[in-house]
Amino acid sequence: MYFKKKIGRFNFFNKTLLIPDMSKMLSHLCAACLRGFGIDAKTLETCNPRALELGKEYTSGKECYPCQITMGDILYFLKKEKERLKDDFNVEKYLYLMPETAGPCRFGMYNKYQHIVFSSFPEFAKLKIASLSAEDSYSFDGMIDKKKVTAIRKASFIALVAADILDRLLMRIRPYENKAGAAERFILKAQNILSEAFEKYSASGNFNFIFKKLEQIAANGKRLLNSSISPKPLVGIVGEIYLRSHAFSNQNLIKNLEEQGAEVVNASIAEWVNFTSYKELKNAEQEVRLNLTSFKIKPIVDSMKNVLKYGKIFFYQQYKQKRIYDRAVKFLNIAQDHNVKDLEKIIKERKLFTLDIGTEACLSIPGALSYAEHGFNGVVNVYPFTCMPSAITSAIVKPIMSKIRMPYLDVSYDSTYQPSRETAIKTFMYQVKRHFKKHGRGSF
Ligand code: SF4
Repeated sequence: MYFKKKIGRFNFFNKTLLIPDMSKMLSHLCAACLRGFGIDAKTLETCNPRALELGKEYTSGKECYPCQITMGDILYFLKKEKERLKDDFNVEKYLYLMPETAGPCRFGMYNKYQHIVFSSFPEFAKLKIASLSAEDSYSFDGMIDKKKVTAIRKASFIALVAADILDRLLMRIRPYENKAGAAERFILKAQNILSEAFEKYSASGNFNFIFKKLEQIAANGKRLLNSSISPKPLVGIVGEIYLRSHAFSNQNLIKNLEEQGAEVVNASIAEWVNFTSYKELKNAEQEVRLNLTSFKIKPIVDSMKNVLKYGKIFFYQQYKQKRIYDRAVKFLNIAQDHNVKDLEKIIKERKLFTLDIGTEACLSIPGALSYAEHGFNGVVNVYPFTCMPSAITSAIVKPIMSKIRMPYLDVSYDSTYQPSRETAIKTFMYQVKRHFKKHGRGSF
């Protein structure tokens, strides 16, 4: 009850919505998309050493690393804002977005913990936290005008897929760029072009202009490739979503692997969103089966409505995602995304795990095996120090990788810099190159 007053489904309008930076592309495109609907959305600055210091100062060290980082980013922003606005600063003008899950890991506790910290500052105590939940597949119900809920949901999903594609374009171009730094400059420009497009067109529901821009970006990206550079060994990344998407937290792991000779494919963000929708659909189907055995009409009808609701969401996402990827792939072959149903099949057939347990282990375990089946030369599982789902992934995947002689690396991060971690990455890359020499590489 106490938390419900400060954390929940608060209306976005007439507030500045503060979005934590997880994946740069995702945060910026989603903020632009929301601005298109008239919401004053802003991405929080990240990668700032002073913000990290604040994050460490206001956590005990036992929390997950993403909790420390996001804690620091929001406190840093609020303090700066207070300095800038002086007496005009009013924390009630802001809403801080921090989603959650119901478990079984600690993500559901971030917003509660962060609220307790805000309460310890008189000037920030009234900050409310808007919380989307994986339990209803991140619905905006109750946060915006009811009539716009579906439209925002669809537009944000498209922004999310576009962000994934920009990330994949960067990973596809950078190892083969014709001029050092060209890929990063190009993608930053592309991010701004798409942000403008989302801000202008997302509310109209007419995405054709945005898709055309995406096609142009893929076509222009192809021109940056140096055709004289031979294909490089392929490394696939799985793991905890924040760590694998946030370059500052993972100490630039992807760039580091590329500098040591790899081409990298990172698991996407859409994969997680599709998984939560698919899981809600499966839960609703299960409820129908249970209610049928009790012959009670109302619960049967209600659960059937949920099957339709989540079925529609899941199939829309699958369909749309495929169409958007196809438009980019026409111009430059980037890795297609994993299909959640294919991933489920992998763990089911081998009796490795079950989606009923939940967490990212459901995706990372089959994701790693899927990379191996598609001829990748190595797999990295990246996660925050002490992350529970990633430890499960490691316990299941590591022995399999060792059996099939696939180079595999577990790499965990906190805010420390460790020479042993760097050595492990170098050793892994040595194995990847040997694997590549012996087996060549598959395609994505
Ligand atoms: S997934 Fe890992 S890092 Fe994220 S909240 Fe759960 S335990 Fe913490």
